[in-house]
Amino acid sequence: MVEPTRKGPDQDETARLIRSAQARAVLSGISVSLLANSFIGLTTVVMLWLSRPSQEVLWWFAALLALNAARLVGVRLLVTRNMCVIAPERALGILSAGALAGGLFWSAAPLLGGGLGMDGPKAYVIFIICGISAGALMQSTAYSRTALCFATPPLVTTIACLLYAATPVSLVVAADVLLLTVMMFRASFTSQEGFLRSQRDRLRAVALANSLSEANAEISQSYQHLESMANRDPLTGLGNRALFNERLRNLLDGAAAAPASLALLAIDLDRFKAINDTMGHGAGDMVLSEIAARLSGIAGPSDTVARLGGDEFAVIVEGDDAPARARMIGLDIVRLAGEPIDIDGRPVVIGASAGLAVHPEHGTDARTLFASADIALYAAKEGGRRRLGMFNPVLRSRIERRRQIEAALPDCLALGQVTVHFQPQVALSDGRIIGFEALLRWSHPDLGAVSPPEIVAAAHALHVSGDLTAHVARQAADLLARLPALGLEHVSMAINVSPREFTGRTLADLLIRIAAEKRIDPSLMEIEITEEAMLDRAAAADELARLEQAGFRLAVDDFGMGHSSLALLVGMRIDRLKIDRSFVAGISHSRENQALISALIGIGRALSIEIVVEGVETASEAETLRMLGCRFAQGYHFARPMPAGDVEAWLAAREVPPMRQASGA
Ligand code: C2E
Ligand code: CA
Ligand code: CA
Repeated sequence: MVEPTRKGPDQDETARLIRSAQARAVLSGISVSLLANSFIGLTTVVMLWLSRPSQEVLWWFAALLALNAARLVGVRLLVTRNMCVIAPERALGILSAGALAGGLFWSAAPLLGGGLGMDGPKAYVIFIICGISAGALMQSTAYSRTALCFATPPLVTTIACLLYAATPVSLVVAADVLLLTVMMFRASFTSQEGFLRSQRDRLRAVALANSLSEANAEISQSYQHLESMANRDPLTGLGNRALFNERLRNLLDGAAAAPASLALLAIDLDRFKAINDTMGHGAGDMVLSEIAARLSGIAGPSDTVARLGGDEFAVIVEGDDAPARARMIGLDIVRLAGEPIDIDGRPVVIGASAGLAVHPEHGTDARTLFASADIALYAAKEGGRRRLGMFNPVLRSRIERRRQIEAALPDCLALGQVTVHFQPQVALSDGRIIGFEALLRWSHPDLGAVSPPEIVAAAHALHVSGDLTAHVARQAADLLARLPALGLEHVSMAINVSPREFTGRTLADLLIRIAAEKRIDPSLMEIEITEEAMLDRAAAADELARLEQAGFRLAVDDFGMGHSSLALLVGMRIDRLKIDRSFVAGISHSRENQALISALIGIGRALSIEIVVEGVETASEAETLRMLGCRFAQGYHFARPMPAGDVEAWLAAREVPPMRQASGA
């Protein structure tokens, strides 16, 4: 806050400023006065000389000229040295001294030309002295002392001369001059008072104006601060969501014409949550600041870079060539975000995905354009992350469907509209049933059949994967419990678990709880995981170990499709490998696929892992697989996935095991 003294000058300062104004006022007219004074001196001398020439008159005039010249020089010095401002009191003293010297000179004038009478020229001198005194007083309304210094001596001698002459006329004139003198002095004091008053008022007005403008500056400073707080992200210093929305809306939805070229980038960090969770919020903040700095470094001065919240960023790219520049910025940030960030001496790699939408092709208003960039980002993440996705209209309907699925899932899950079907697994040698796989089914009145991967993705997005798995596991356990009554002993039940669920640390607890609740032997439950889950062992290892310990069987699904290495298989206790259906298609005719399947079966044997081949659709495929040494299979040829309630009827209708049918054909 500003202290009160700063608002206006203090007492001493006020006095000094007023003195300075007085000195400047006196100085301002003095040069002209001195010239006039010299001229009047000349006419006086001429008058006196004409009435009676004398040496003393000439000397007086010469001395007056010299004095006035000296006073002029003094005045110049005061001006050039800026004495009125630096030392106004001294300047006034010097000016008063000069005025006194001038006054003393003029006080000699009535005595010049011999005698002290009141003859013609003397009357003229009296007139002149009264005139120049009045002039001096009028000239110096700001500061009466200089005027008094100048006027007093000549008036005194004038009055003295008149009194000395002691004629009736001279006495009357002396009285007049005295009265005039008193009046002039009074006027001088009054005008000085007026000057001082006006100066004080002026200073007060200036101080008030200053304090007002200071207050105004303070207010506008606070306002700017508030405004920037409302529009800035405090961590990164980038614009925040409010600023971003306003800018985009101004550009596209405002009254002014939209810019000719504009593009929008939506950016999302790939592993931010994991870093925040494992390394702490401090590390998370460092990551965000560093990414913000990298992003600011590649964006142009006319672009708007904003942090929308969490690990989401966005850039509005404007100006010439915006789409091409936005593409470059998008590619650059994806590349730069993949370079390590140093956090307390540890290099951390984060990665980012970006989505690009261009105005007006992908949206003419702010909302649509942003939604398009977001969709492109979504697609980039789905496509494997760490890439730039470009919006295209096909994406929109896909994303729209996904949004609808996400909106409908929670209710449909709660209402039991998301169901589970079961597909049998059989032994190729005799057609005996060795197990079932539980598979999700959801038929929605508006959305039609929603595929299991769609359901799983929506559940993940809504953070209800656990609920979904619990739902499947409970139904699977129910059927498993009924199987012995249907004549199926020691038959396993497989459920699918997506790799992402392993990072939550709740999966094993959940399944152990359900097995206990349903009184199920965990060794009859098989957890199908994909190769992806095995690859990310750091995240999945704990949960896998706990499932193993609890007695659950583990199967690797879609084997042969991913990147799992033999080393991984050896390191883990895997009970089953499920060979992907793509290896089976056309196996009766494809030597290549036959060789591949043989190799996979060989691996299984060597590691004592059971092999189940998926997607067996024809009798000839089943036969070929049996000949290749494959023992177990699953596929439409044996049975399509069916509701639990249909299993009993299906078993009853299954007079001749399909394998015998095949071999008999
Ligand atoms: P998956 O685990 O490989 O499941 C086998 C898929 O192959 C199932 O598709 C099944 O219906 C289909 N299938 C079985 N036999 C044949 C055949 O002879 N020919 C053909 N063309 N297809 C056959 P579905 O039910 O559409 O499931 C697709 C994927 O969704 C599953 O692939 C699995 O990865 C996932 N999924 C299904 N249910 C769940 C679940 O409860 N949880 C999780 N996390 N994923 C599930
Ligand atoms: Ca499966
Ligand atoms: Ca599979």
